Amino acid sequence: MAANQRIVIVGQGLAGTCLAWRLWDRGRAIEVVDRGGLRGSSVVAAGLVSPVTGKGMNPSWRVAEFLPLAMGLYRSVEMVLGEEFFHRVPVLRLFRDGGERAKFEAKRAQLERWIEEVVEGPIAGVNAEWGGVVWKGGGWLDTQRFLEASKGYFREHGLYSEREVDADHEAANDHITVLCQGAAGLGSGPFAYLPERRAKGEILTVRILGMTEGRVLSRGGWLVPVGGGLYRAGATYAWDDLEAKPTRQAREELEGVVRTFTDAPYEVIEQLVGVRPIIRRSQPVIGPHPDRENLYVFNGLGSKGVLYAPGVAERLANHLCQGVDIEDDLSVERLGADARNPAGA
Ligand SMILES: Cc1cc2nc3c(=O)[nH]c(=O)nc-3n(C[C@H](O)[C@H](O)[C@H](O)COP(=O)(O)OP(=O)(O)OC[C@H]3O[C@@H](n4cnc5c(N)ncnc54)[C@H](O)[C@@H]3O)c2cc1C
Repeated sequence: MAANQRIVIVGQGLAGTCLAWRLWDRGRAIEVVDRGGLRGSSVVAAGLVSPVTGKGMNPSWRVAEFLPLAMGLYRSVEMVLGEEFFHRVPVLRLFRDGGERAKFEAKRAQLERWIEEVVEGPIAGVNAEWGGVVWKGGGWLDTQRFLEASKGYFREHGLYSEREVDADHEAANDHITVLCQGAAGLGSGPFAYLPERRAKGEILTVRILGMTEGRVLSRGGWLVPVGGGLYRAGATYAWDDLEAKPTRQAREELEGVVRTFTDAPYEVIEQLVGVRPIIRRSQPVIGPHPDRENLYVFNGLGSKGVLYAPGVAERLANHLCQGVDIEDDLSVERLGADARNPAGA
């Protein structure tokens, strides 16, 4: 791998966009290619970042490292493009009942660095009898604006083109190709051997009449205030049906999420569908193809692309530009070897 070879990035979702910025930063010759039509899951994502997630209230994997890297990249792109993309709003995790509150109290010392404030219920306009906790460092990225504005910049600098890439025949001797295809790059193509479990997800955009809550609310599902009286409610998971079509079942589930947070009347504005690129362990992977020279992958951002894409992009850029080794837990080579030899024999 020559340090001055041009790098072609296939896919302009969060992975491809963050990698493009990190390589551009280093003065590397790049080309970003996407098939267009806003088909990736990054466009659908609510953009939510929360350092602690899930029923178990566990800090996300390596969050203390990746959160500042994410904020750093979004802030620097905001400065270059003169527009705010990351909205630092409090993420309020509500407790379902006394049992969940007690569980939090038992874990509290462990979670201390991520606690901004413990909130007592009730909360005006929100079903929140048991109160909740505001996590430190959360917010949401306007992924559509971030991707659109980045694309505009890349286009202006002659770095962006729109075409469908045949990943099976893309590698060439005079450049490096990095496949950042999201779910479209899993289950088929050069990295089909990776253990994957793509998950379809749907979200609703709703207008909730009379609701003024400006924090992200989370409790099983979540509600993200996106301005203009609108909220995003999410998200469903489905593994058997990966068709990018909205379903009635998801709509009912998501309206149920809205109703858990508020009794106020609401109007459904939009239902969006995407497929999350999940690879075993739900961790991102980067690195070279085992057999095809000059072909790399950056995939597996799962449900947390906003948090991980910038820091993982930085590691891949360090590898491509300075030959820095890829850590084992991000390495596609390591994962591929494990997949081919599961018993470790
Ligand atoms: C309903 C839902 C809600 C979500 N909410 C959140 C959230 O709140 N917070 C969060 O962090 N994450 C969220 N996610 C997850 C997030 O969307 C993903 O982690 C992330 O978007 C993956 O980014 P990516 O760049 O790998 O893939 P994608 O965004 O899918 O991008 C891949 C790109 O590659 C292009 N492409 C693919 N194949 C080709 C080809 N052959 N030729 C040319 N171009 C090609 C596509 O057009 C696309 O633009 C959510 C996902 C879903 C589905």
